[in-house]
Amino acid sequence: MYKKMIVLRFPPEITDQPLICSLSREHDLCFNILKATILPGQEGIMVLEISGNRKNVNAGLRYLREHGVKVKSVAQEVRRKDEVCFQCGACTAMCPTDALYMDRDTYEVKFDPELCKGCEFCIAVCPVRAMELRFSHEKVLA
Ligand code: SF4
Ligand code: SF4
Repeated sequence: MYKKMIVLRFPPEITDQPLICSLSREHDLCFNILKATILPGQEGIMVLEISGNRKNVNAGLRYLREHGVKVKSVAQEVRRKDEVCFQCGACTAMCPTDALYMDRDTYEVKFDPELCKGCEFCIAVCPVRAMELRFSHEKVLA
């Protein structure tokens, strides 16, 4: 299941269109609305978490853009669930920034969030899903 958090801005002339309903129906997507301010005749803003098959998510975002909605991705951060990681090291070969690396003294796989660029390669490769995407709700909802 692919997830993405997005901010949508609806120009005043389209705030009365049922685009989000169509998005869900036509592209087989689930969504969770975290914040919405949409008044007829004014610009609307909606923050939502959208999930589904990656291809459908991308098609859905294209659909919104084609209908005049401004779509912006929200910053995401990658975290490691230390209690789940069993130190197999598979992620260190995939990480392009050395945010995941093997400590040469202790042979421990370490994670430095400061170096992470959010490419998500480690999420795909980790056999126990120790790496996860988190969304910065505070940044969006402030
Ligand atoms: S998301 Fe990419 S950059 Fe960040 S730790 Fe994983 S592989 Fe490395
Ligand atoms: S692939 Fe997953 S389990 Fe293996 S070291 Fe990396 S985070 Fe830990």
